Amino acid sequence: MEDVDEVGNFKNHLVGTSSPIAKKKYMYNESYLRYGFTFFTCHEGVSLPLCLICSETLAAESMKPTKLARHFHTKHAAFSKKPIEYFQRLLSSSKQSKSLLEKYSITSEKYQLASYEAPYTYEVQ
Ligand SMILES: [Zn+2]
Repeated sequence: MEDVDEVGNFKNHLVGTSSPIAKKKYMYNESYLRYGFTFFTCHEGVSLPLCLICSETLAAESMKPTKLARHFHTKHAAFSKKPIEYFQRLLSSSKQSKSLLEKYSITSEKYQLASYEAPYTYEVQ
């Protein structure tokens, strides 16, 4: 009865994690904008929280009000009294320029290229 054993282990594993739906995708909620956060979708289709104030991207697991609020209050306490309209304006201006998102994709591409090319470049020389 190996199958039963495996199922048992699987269940135990799930109980060990915070919830059975732990693998459910973390979805962006518009209310997160009050913490200065929008999101961007990376190549794997995962939504990552993106701070409009410092352009920092957090891990997908941080797509929770508590985590975003912690970042906001520890790093951007000065913005805590800003109205939601302030962040809506930040968001629309960042969407217009798209500079934030483009900067991110270009940077990650450059890093990937660098890691591939570096060894060969040195060998050729
Ligand atoms: Zn930030």
